[in-house]
Amino acid sequence: MNECIFCKICAGEMESNTIFETNDFKVILDKFPAAKGHALIIPKEHFDDIYGMDSETAGKLFALATVVARSMKKVLNCDGLNVLQNNGEVAGQTVNHFHMHLIPRYKGDDFDFKWTTKKFSEEEFASLSEMIAKEI
Ligand code: AMP
Ligand code: ZN
Repeated sequence: MNECIFCKICAGEMESNTIFETNDFKVILDKFPAAKGHALIIPKEHFDDIYGMDSETAGKLFALATVVARSMKKVLNCDGLNVLQNNGEVAGQTVNHFHMHLIPRYKGDDFDFKWTTKKFSEEEFASLSEMIAKEI
């Protein structure tokens, strides 16, 4: 039996505040939102994370994100919006069914994305970009 909560939400077997639905995606309000209007875009097909998603679905997903983001900006009158997508526990993923967060931002909110910058030599930058490029 599939115990994935986002599969259940997409199949209509579990309740959600659905904003919008297509053949491929469900857009819902996050049940434990970081901000008013925090939304999730969920592909109906189960992908654990970004690594297994096919490029056609990924393209459709981002196209849909632009449409939903514009609607959210208009309706919520937010000052900004973060697109967030977590992969792996260390990155903060808690539901192992791919999803994209659209998090409206309001001036003075308590959301914080700050990190400390790390230093690399020019050789290290060159070697890193070369290694990743080889795998593409
Ligand atoms: P992540 O930590 O990136 O895996 O995000 C999972 C998100 O799913 C969190 O922001 C949760 O608040 C949200 N969430 C968990 N269960 C539900 C649910 N039943 N309906 C809507 N959102 C949920
Ligand atoms: Zn699933």
